[in-house]
Amino acid sequence: MTVINPHQFFDLSQEDPQSLTHFRATVADGQLFRYVEGDRESAGTLVERHCAGYFGKEAAAAVANGTVGLRLALRALGVGPGDRVLVSAYSFIACAMAVCAVGAVPVPLDLDSALTPDTTALESPEEPVAAVLIVHVQGHAVPVGRLRELCDRLGVPLVEDVCQGFGAASADGRAGALADLAVTSFQQSKQISCGEGGLVAGPAALVEHVYRMADLGAVRREGGLPDWDDERALVGENLRMTELQASLVLDQALVLDRTLARQRDRRARLREELGPDVPVLDSTHPDGDAASHTLFLARGADDAAEFCAGLAARGVLARVVWKKTYPEYGVFRRLLPSAPHPRPRKAEALAPRILSVPTSKYLTDMAVSRVAEAVVAFRRHLVEEEA
Ligand SMILES: *Cc1c(COP(=O)(O)O)cnc(C)c1O
Repeated sequence: MTVINPHQFFDLSQEDPQSLTHFRATVADGQLFRYVEGDRESAGTLVERHCAGYFGKEAAAAVANGTVGLRLALRALGVGPGDRVLVSAYSFIACAMAVCAVGAVPVPLDLDSALTPDTTALESPEEPVAAVLIVHVQGHAVPVGRLRELCDRLGVPLVEDVCQGFGAASADGRAGALADLAVTSFQQSKQISCGEGGLVAGPAALVEHVYRMADLGAVRREGGLPDWDDERALVGENLRMTELQASLVLDQALVLDRTLARQRDRRARLREELGPDVPVLDSTHPDGDAASHTLFLARGADDAAEFCAGLAARGVLARVVWKKTYPEYGVFRRLLPSAPHPRPRKAEALAPRILSVPTSKYLTDMAVSRVAEAVVAFRRHLVEEEA
């Protein structure tokens, strides 16, 4: 039995080499470093320009990965030691870790089963908030309109983690569009992937700061030569993206609409085969999500585990997206004070039950049918959407 592992949205071995124009150009001229010598324009620069436009921002900085992108975004916003940053409780552990890496304290933000953030903590905060980090989930855009309003009222910057939301939209618009800084990842399991990679998009001045921190603090002269005597130079690290990464990202970014259409087609077919009786955890905006994944809600944590095991036995890899909220991990339980912020109880109850079945563009009709049959067989483990 072949295993259906669609947790990969870009598989070099399944792509037509002719379509990989930028990747082939990079390999052909052998200039793998960001500061390309010769006539070819840096793929890194092209990716930055393309993604800035995509997120509706002035500029973007390509970096080594998404975690670094989050950390540098927070630093550029002036978040530092002792600051409190509200972070979606239901998120990848890298989000809270990036906050800790700048010495700040992550404070969990609860959410409901429609993935809508609980904004109570921002309605009238008792302690100052330095930033809000909201996280989009598996191709589903979390609605951020109300958060944006509250952040504006308080003068607090909003960072959107679009690592899993590239191509997704909610009723509030495209994921990343309302953020002061939008951060994405191009790691293996993301919508656009090159193994590892990341990007920060936002206003030119903030992005320039991010870029310098990732480029040994240099101010780059014409032709790419670094200048550390310029008064704008700072102490940085080398967290640049390579041309190999950037050219792979670019080739995928330029055909994203086609990929999304194919995923939506795969997901529509899956839903059709599942029939009306199988409850799908609807995105907030059914036409707007990236359709990279279809989410289901299990009755309980044990049901979720049995669902995954049952599907795996049928050669279909499903996953509990994030088994716990980040404050529940030992590493954070030791580090973070339990008081004064309230526990994100809704997110704690939801996390072990949110299941994901990806709907990648590579799924054949036959594979979709096998996924549907497997899900139907374990239908009893799923519940309707709940408040
Ligand atoms: C993948 C991911 C990250 C981290 O990105 P890396 O490129 O793996 O460092 C951060 N947040 C979310 C939601 C992610 O899915």
